[in-house]
Amino acid sequence: MENNGNFQENYIKIKQDILQDPEIKEFLSLYPELTDADIEKNLIKLYEFKNQSKQCNACKSFGTCINMIQGYSPILEVNGGEIHLSYEKCHNRIDEENKRRQQKLVQSLYMPKEILEASLGDIDSRDPQRNEAIRELIHFVEESKSGLPSKGIYFFGPFGVGKTYFLGALANKLKELNISSSLIYMPEFVREMKSSLKDDSINEKIDFFKKADVLMLDDIGAEMQSSWFRDEILGSILQYRMMEGLPVFFTSNYNLAQLEDHLASTRSGIETVKAGRIIERIRQVSKEVKLFGNNRRDQ
Ligand code: ADP
Ligand code: MG
Repeated sequence: MENNGNFQENYIKIKQDILQDPEIKEFLSLYPELTDADIEKNLIKLYEFKNQSKQCNACKSFGTCINMIQGYSPILEVNGGEIHLSYEKCHNRIDEENKRRQQKLVQSLYMPKEILEASLGDIDSRDPQRNEAIRELIHFVEESKSGLPSKGIYFFGPFGVGKTYFLGALANKLKELNISSSLIYMPEFVREMKSSLKDDSINEKIDFFKKADVLMLDDIGAEMQSSWFRDEILGSILQYRMMEGLPVFFTSNYNLAQLEDHLASTRSGIETVKAGRIIERIRQVSKEVKLFGNNRRDQ
C-alpha cells in the first residue's frame, strides 16, 4: 500500500512539473478545449516534449544533441482533440547537413590539408606583388555571384609564393556560392589517368573533368611530359570546356610562353604545333596573371 502511495505522490509531482513547464503552459493555453482527461491521457507525450531539447536550446552542437533522435526537435500539435507529438529537423542538424553538402563541393585529388582549408580571408594583401592576383580572384568571385564566368585564371610565378593556396582559398569561397570545384595536382593527374587506362574508368574520369563547374589544375608543367596525355586527355578536356564556356584555373612555375616550349618537348621530339594548340585553348579558358612575392615556405 505504501508503494502505491509513493507512486501516487510521484505521479502528482511529475504532472505538476509538466503542467508548470512554461512551453507546455503556453501550448495548453492555445487549446482551452482540451479537458483534464485529454491532458491526463496524453501526459506521457507532454512529458517527452518537456524533456527534449527544443530547437537546440539545450544542446551546444549537433554532436552533443541530447534528444532521443539526434538532430530532431519535438513539436506538439492538436488534431481532432488529440495531442500529437512529432519531430522535425533542428537548426544544428540542418547546418550540419548543409556543411556536409558543401564539403562535397570541393573534389580534390592529392591536395594537402592546409590547401583544402585555405581561406581568402587569410591571404596577406600587404605584399604589392600580389595585388593583381588578388584583384583578379576577387573579380572572379564577384562575377560568379551572377553566373559562372567562362574564363578562369592562369597563375604563374616562382615556387612557394602561394599559388596553390590561392586555388584552395578560391574553391572554399566558391562553395559558399554553391559552385563546385575540382582541384587536381597535375603530376598525379597524369599518373591517375595512365593507371586508369587498364580499366574502363578513363572515359568516366575524363568526362568528370570536362564537366566540373570549376576545374583547377595545379602545377601544370611539373607533370611527366607525354604526348598522349597532352593531346588525348588535356587537349580534349580543354577543348570541351572551351566550347562550353567553362572556366579553368591553373598554377604553374612557367608563364604561357615558357609552358609552350615545355609542352612541345616530349619523347616523340619537338612538337610545336601540338603544344601551340594546347596553349591556345588555355588562353581561351583562362587569363594569364602573374603571382610573385616572398617564398612562404621559408617562413
Ligand atoms: P606555390 O603553389 O606557389 O608553390 P603554395 O601555395 O604551396 O605555393 O604556398 C607555399 C606555402 O605557404 C604552403 O605551405 C602554403 O600553405 C603557405 N601559404 C601560402 N599562402 C598562404 C597564406 N596566405 N596564408 C597562410 N599560408 C600560406
Ligand atoms: Mg603549388
